[in-house]
Amino acid sequence: MYCPFCTAEDTKVIDSRLVSEGAQVRRRRECVTCKERFTSYEVAELLMPRVIKHDGNREPFDEQKLRSGFLRALEKRPVAMEDIEAVISQIKHALRVTGEREIDSMMLGELVMDHLKTLDQVAYVRFASVYRSFQDISEFRDEIERLEAEPASSGSD
Ligand SMILES: [Zn+2]
Repeated sequence: MYCPFCTAEDTKVIDSRLVSEGAQVRRRRECVTCKERFTSYEVAELLMPRVIKHDGNREPFDEQKLRSGFLRALEKRPVAMEDIEAVISQIKHALRVTGEREIDSMMLGELVMDHLKTLDQVAYVRFASVYRSFQDISEFRDEIERLEAEPASSGSD
């Protein structure tokens, strides 16, 4: 870390302790060049990555938008709100642990599809048909047939 006084590159840590119940690390540092002392705080970065759109634009991750996407796909389907919220939490966790500052919207779409597939297969096909913009009806039918051929997951009727 650069010295904030003389901008020398070399500073040494002379003391390190946990603060805010362990959520931060406070470090006393001393500049090797000018001997000034200063404090730095280290916190884990748990920000959500920004989403890179198809056109290359970046936008902040929008949890509400994600939720509406799930609700739209799961409209009139027998899936509890609690299960949807659990899946949203899992997706947010998955995005955070990538450690990436930006993620491709395709990756987010794939995550949504993976989770929808376990929640409700009808909703999955609904979402996938729009998301993947199936080239023609036969491609759509192939997808349904592929799903039907898979062993039924728990909760299906
Ligand atoms: Zn210095």
